Amino acid sequence: MKQIIFTDLDGTLLDGFNYSFKKALPYLKILKEKKIPVVFCTCKTQAENEYFQKKLKNNTPFIAENGGAIFIPKNYFSFSFPYSKSSKNYFIIELSEPYKKLRAVLNKIKKETGFKIKGFGDMSAKEVSEDSGLSLKMAKLAKRKNYNESFILLNNSNKDEAEKEKILFEKIKKAGFNFTHGGRYYNIFGKNAGKGKAVKILAKLFQKEFGEIKTIGLGDSLNDLSMLKVVDVPILVKNKNGIWNPKIKFSKLYRINGIGPEGWVKGIESFVLK
Ligand SMILES: [Mg+2]
Repeated sequence: MKQIIFTDLDGTLLDGFNYSFKKALPYLKILKEKKIPVVFCTCKTQAENEYFQKKLKNNTPFIAENGGAIFIPKNYFSFSFPYSKSSKNYFIIELSEPYKKLRAVLNKIKKETGFKIKGFGDMSAKEVSEDSGLSLKMAKLAKRKNYNESFILLNNSNKDEAEKEKILFEKIKKAGFNFTHGGRYYNIFGKNAGKGKAVKILAKLFQKEFGEIKTIGLGDSLNDLSMLKVVDVPILVKNKNGIWNPKIKFSKLYRINGIGPEGWVKGIESFVLK
């Protein structure tokens, strides 16, 4: 049976503090030799995904911007399939709404509530770099968003954070959009987007190509929940605070004892290369 790995990047394959992939590298080599596809499933942009695809010599499809779009290298599958648009290198399946629309929804909520919402679109690359710990070069790539807006909610009122969060999520839902909370940022995207939805679509294509498949998913935070729920083997690594996200729980879930890439490596050893 062909195994297909769907993996989150930040805090899972990449170290949550310094975004290093050093620990995963030897295993990515083994997986490549064994022709086991490693599919990034991340909130990162196309530009950031391409950076890591190149660095890790990975040439599989990838899911960008929290399931906002699926990028499939043109020569990857041997059959044709429906897609939203094509670029020089990819067939792109778009699931989210345009970035401009997402920004407009956030601005409306900002006006209605007085919440201090600060999105990547409001920040310079330097500010994104300082806030996220990304290098300036990576921050520039992170700002090239098309399908998802990442933002922070600054505390400037008497309302406690949980209450503000509740209001925010209700407003986003009412506007007809979807949201998630990653390790650091809140995210807004189209209601038809999401990591789980994207994984399902892509898994069907893999199945058509390879026949029977077994999907493995690895993640660390709440924005991975929908992905973990649709794979055959869902693996939760410890987040950078050293705990398993308490909001991610369902019977099939495997909790691996290791933070970020350390857990990722253990998960690959125990469930894929066993
Ligand atoms: Mg993560």
